[in-house]
Amino acid sequence: MRVAALIPAAGQGKRMGAEKPKAFLPLGDRPILAHTLQKFEDCPQVDEVLPLLPPGEGMDWAGETVRRFGLKKVSRILPGGQERQDSVYRGLQALRGKADWVIIHDGVRPFVPPELIQQVLSETRRWKAVVVALPASETIKEGSPENEVVRTVDRRRLWMIQTPQSFEYPLILRAHEEARREGFLGTDDASLVERLGIPVKILRGSRFNFKITTPEDLVLAEAFLKYSSELGVRSSE
Ligand code: C5P
Repeated sequence: MRVAALIPAAGQGKRMGAEKPKAFLPLGDRPILAHTLQKFEDCPQVDEVLPLLPPGEGMDWAGETVRRFGLKKVSRILPGGQERQDSVYRGLQALRGKADWVIIHDGVRPFVPPELIQQVLSETRRWKAVVVALPASETIKEGSPENEVVRTVDRRRLWMIQTPQSFEYPLILRAHEEARREGFLGTDDASLVERLGIPVKILRGSRFNFKITTPEDLVLAEAFLKYSSELGVRSSE
């Protein structure tokens, strides 16, 4: 089974309010993206890793990072697209004839537990599409455009979806192609598979696998990194 990891990291990070795209920002002694790529480098089931970066400077920077940290599984660095979905599609096109399974993971989720990557991949044998998620932990209400409560939603069956998400390659390629043809833009890759009527398996994720989106998230990430290295805490705990 040939397994490729696609790491979309081509967002401009406007919510971060920084000059640089957020995957370039330092976390501890290295850029956020280097932490994320290392998790896939270390996973024995993963054969190759393809990060997607902002075209131009981002690509050179990523090349330097890959060399500096000796990331041998990074086979190519690709330019991303306008939306996350476009970035992933570019990655999928680059993998034609080269992968049986694809695991897709946001470049800005550096604390993905290694066991979770392995679990997602082993479930891909049984399910063609697998996502990780956390059960909704707060009361969920629907609001009107004026922010008036419309109703309270039963949260017992609601999940907050994260990455990694893993798929059989031909399935996720077809899902992306159909979405493009029909002008559908999803907020994750699994939603494109759901539209085809294919079942998607949910695995329970980790609270540490959060997405670094805002400056507050970066403060949390620094704290977690320090805490975990001092106390030897693993991100699955
Ligand atoms: O924008 P969002 O927070 O959903 O981004 C999730 C991941 O997708 C980030 O790692 C970001 O860099 C990436 N992304 C991308 N191409 C885009 C937009 C976002 O690869 N055009």
